[in-house]
Amino acid sequence: MNIHEYQAKELLKSYGVAVPAGGVAYSDKQAAQLAEEIGGSRWVIKAQIHAGGRGKAGGVKVVGSVEEVQKVTDAMIGARLITHQTGPGGSVVQRVWIEQASVIKKEFYLGFVIDRGNQRITMIASSEGGMEIEEVAKTSPEKIVKEVVDPAIGLLDFQCRKVATAIGLKGKLMPQSVKLMKAVYRCMRDRDALQAEINPLALVSVGEDERLMVLDAKFNFDDNALYRQRLIAEMRDLAEEDPKEVEASGHGLNYIALDGNIGCIVNGAGLAMASLDAITLHGGRPANFLDVGGGASPEKVTNACRIVLEDPNVKCILVNIFAGINRCDWIAQGLIQACNNLQIKVPLIVRLAGTNVEEGRKILAESGLSFITAENLDAAAAKAAEIAKG
Ligand code: ADP
Ligand code: MG
Repeated sequence: MNIHEYQAKELLKSYGVAVPAGGVAYSDKQAAQLAEEIGGSRWVIKAQIHAGGRGKAGGVKVVGSVEEVQKVTDAMIGARLITHQTGPGGSVVQRVWIEQASVIKKEFYLGFVIDRGNQRITMIASSEGGMEIEEVAKTSPEKIVKEVVDPAIGLLDFQCRKVATAIGLKGKLMPQSVKLMKAVYRCMRDRDALQAEINPLALVSVGEDERLMVLDAKFNFDDNALYRQRLIAEMRDLAEEDPKEVEASGHGLNYIALDGNIGCIVNGAGLAMASLDAITLHGGRPANFLDVGGGASPEKVTNACRIVLEDPNVKCILVNIFAGINRCDWIAQGLIQACNNLQIKVPLIVRLAGTNVEEGRKILAESGLSFITAENLDAAAAKAAEIAKG
């Protein structure tokens, strides 16, 4: 689960991390009022969507008057922001974050990810933070430093000092760096985050002085841990998620939208992945991943069909069930129910195997509906790919 920048900043602030004074606004008038309250003479208006790359796409604007705050907010709210991370459809801006503009001397990058290779949280940092970080990773990877955290002892001061030194933070910025890195790590660990990214971590001027400040923050949390993270779960913004995925999770289905045209209804994540592979191998393109799970009732199968068909690109549906806990007769009944209730117009290619398979096949054969059946996954995938191409 992702959260907005403003939520990430509020969270980090509660861990003692320095962020600019700011507030969230849902209208231009509210934004103007906030700017007055925040004070100062320059403000930044930042579109709140669950995607990065906003700066380059016009979603981050620095202004010098309250009138401009109001004007820019008015233009941003309700507009569709398209960044290199949103996909071509973009995201509609529902709210903006207004904060005091900083005088930036330098931008750094600081991130924490769970590295699946070594199964540990790994801190990543660079002296070349800011909007070009992807370019830095590509062209000068030596400017990115990493430090692996041992989960038994946590992130240690010397590790922070090592990273800080490597990215050029020294003198009185050293203790600030250590404190900040440890706070972000603690926040990530306590809140079951999978990823935390601060970009930029900025060195800003404060009068004659200078200090480190978090100007942008992104978090991704483990969905499976949300049951014990109420504070985080409450930050969920369903408007930022695919409505089909939201609906599916409400029905206990695991659905992920993809960009092809062959709908997939499968039981078990492993078999679902194998089905996507088989389709691709035959030159087809899956429209989704959908795991109906074990013990799928006819209702669950109907819901699965409905969600898959909400995608207008779907030209046919491949149903691949290897029933263990599931029962092929239930799946067959569910498919018939779905055909009758939803008036499905696209071909359904069905491959059934396992518990009660003979009964399931019989139910389909005697239904009077035109299912295309296949004996095995390979044959089913080949048929689906052929139909989708035609
Ligand atoms: P994104 O990563 O989505 O492009 P950021 O929040 O990182 O959005 O903002 C993009 C750039 O805007 C930053 O790299 C920074 O240069 C500038 N910026 C962001 N917040 C502030 C701020 N409070 N004061 C001054 N400049 C800012
Ligand atoms: Mg950023």
